[in-house]
Parts: sequence; C-alpha cells; structure tokens
Amino acid sequence: MLTKIIDNARIEAIKALIQQANNIVITCHISPDGDAIGSTLGLYWYLKEIGKESHIIVPNMYPNFLEWIDGSNNILVYETQTEEAKQLIVDSDLIFCLDYNDLARVNRVQDAITESKAKRILIDHHLNPNIECEVQISHPEASATCELIYRIIDALGDTEQITKSCAEALYAGLMTDTGNFSYNSQNPDLYIIVSELLKKGINKDEIYNKVYNVYSEHRLRMIGYCLHKKMRIYPEQRTAVIALSKEECERFHYIKGDTEGLVNMPLQIKEIDVSVFLRQDDNKIKISFRSQGEVHVNKMAEEFKGGGHKNAAGGESYHSLPVTLRRVESVIKRRAEFDFNNKPQHNTTNQAN
Ligand code: 5GP
Ligand code: MN
Repeated sequence: MLTKIIDNARIEAIKALIQQANNIVITCHISPDGDAIGSTLGLYWYLKEIGKESHIIVPNMYPNFLEWIDGSNNILVYETQTEEAKQLIVDSDLIFCLDYNDLARVNRVQDAITESKAKRILIDHHLNPNIECEVQISHPEASATCELIYRIIDALGDTEQITKSCAEALYAGLMTDTGNFSYNSQNPDLYIIVSELLKKGINKDEIYNKVYNVYSEHRLRMIGYCLHKKMRIYPEQRTAVIALSKEECERFHYIKGDTEGLVNMPLQIKEIDVSVFLRQDDNKIKISFRSQGEVHVNKMAEEFKGGGHKNAAGGESYHSLPVTLRRVESVIKRRAEFDFNNKPQHNTTNQAN
C-alpha cells in the first residue's frame, strides 16, 4: 500500500472532471524529457483504457531516445503542427498540465491554453506552482510526475486499468527523472510502484537500454571532446563549466537530445558539486545547472530567466557565448550565496526534473 499523499477531495474532483470531459488534451513542458513524455503517455493510455480518448500536445519535438514509447507517434508537436494543435486546445473542455508549474514553460502553447475555456488539472513536482486550475496536484517531494500519475490511478482504484504500454511510459519517467534511481529516489513507495509496473510485464533492463544505450558515434565523441577539451574547473568554487558553441555542435552533427545528461558528468569528480553546461543554439544559449547537496542552482538559474529544482535547473541567454560565459562565471564566483549548507532554516527537498 502506498502512503497517501493526495487527499480524497482532489481525487474525487479529478474523477468528476474526467467523467464530464468530451475533449481532453494533455500537455507538458517545452523540450520534453522522459518524465514529460512518460507522464503524458501514461495518462493517455490510462484514459483510453477507461474509455476516454485524448490528444497529447507538446510544445516542440521530444528526443529520439523516447520514440520507442508506445503512442509517441501520435503526439502532436505544436511548433510544426500549430493549427491542428491549437484548434484541439481551443476546442477542448479539459486540459492536463503535466510536469510544469508555469505557463511560460509551454512556450507558444500558452496562447492556445489561455484562449481555451477548458478546465485545467495540474499534476507536477516542481516548486511554486503558478497556473490557474480546477485541481492542483503539486508535490515537489515526488520523484517524478509519473509517480503522481501512478498515485492518482491507484487512488482512483484503477490499477487494473494500467496496461503494459501505460506501465512502460510511467517507468520511463521514473527512471529518467531519478537518473536510473540514483537521486530523488529514496522514498520506499517508489519501489512499490516499480514493483507494480514490473507486474504489468515491462522489461526494465530493456527500457534502460532503449533510453541510455542508443548514442550515435558522433554523440559519444562530442561528450569525449567536451570532457577532454572544454571542461573548465573552478576549484575554489567546486564548479565545472562546459560551453559548446554552435560551430562545435555542428562539427559533431548535433541532434536534439545529444547533450542530455552531459551536465551531470562533471559531478562524478570528487571535488566538484556544481556543474554548468552552456549550448549555443540558433537564437539563444541554453544553460543547464546541476548540483549536489545544498547548493540551490535554481537560484543561480533565476539570474538567467530560468528556474527549476534545487539540484537541477536551467535558464537561457540571448547574449553572445563569451558574454554569457562571463555572466556564468560571475554567478559561480558568488557560490556562497546559493549554498545553504550553513543555513539550516531552509527547506531541503531534493529535486531533479
Ligand atoms: P535541463 O537542464 O535538463 O534542461 O533542465 C533541468 C530542469 O530545470 C528542468 O526539469 C526544469 O525544471 C528546469 N528548467 C530548465 N530550463 C528552464 C527554463 O528555461 N526555465 C525554468 N523556469 N526552468 C527551467
Ligand atoms: Mn519531471
């Protein structure tokens, strides 16, 4: 039995909203990750099993390593299928907001959601939810949004309706948002859920291989290049910074998802507990922050119009790469401001994606 964390009133409210709904849309954040795609497809398959059709709309394309998840080929991408996706959102009567806490995180989908008269259900594990909705399920202590989807299905008494496809999707999110159960993965309930998903016939080792062992040669060589040539260590700040220019991305035939996880690697160095990765895209620089322990990188990310969790956050910059690097450098030099090790009054939930 799972520990109850979602109250009955909310579960009843979700049940009623699903029953009343005729046109359901499921959305997730921009640059969807394993938890975003896993939770949307997990919910999609559950709804289908209880007789409710739905449409999944993502702001932009998800990475290739998630395309094995059953149903992913039906996902609508707002960036390229704008008219169809927009119409579905505007005509919908129930919108699920999964794995994001603010409408700014869905990019242009925000306009369609705001225009739509649909009721909204938010299910998320980021701090400080800021979306007007009928039902808000926000649990920053949850390891993944997929965990919350499982808990909701369980609380609805519907675990029988979890098919193998649904279980695979949910497992993918749990696995990726915990770094294959290496962080945010201390709650015993998580393993009850994994156990139940395994009983649905999923092959967890195969899922690991499909997500993590599908690199192209270029991708692995780019990682080697970054670690060998590009990683800069700031010993006093226990910080590593890697910055990759557009030209370098092109040299290694960069495709979406190729730098996923790279930011975590410098944390393998014993003396490093903050890692920053910058990638120059077409029109902006994407900045990823990771930390271990009590350095709150979401606060660092806020200096770059971003945010996130204590140990995993992101932001962006519209300056040149050298200018952005200088700004990053000045922020990490102020590391002590973001380090709550000696500030015990602060709440310390461990968080990733
Ligand atoms: P990543 O570095 O993997 O892109 O993002 C790590 C986490 O940081 C995400 O799960 C998300 O919570 C947060 N994040 C990344 N980019 C942004 C951003 O531009 N704005 C905000 N508010 N959060 C971000
Ligand atoms: Mn997540």
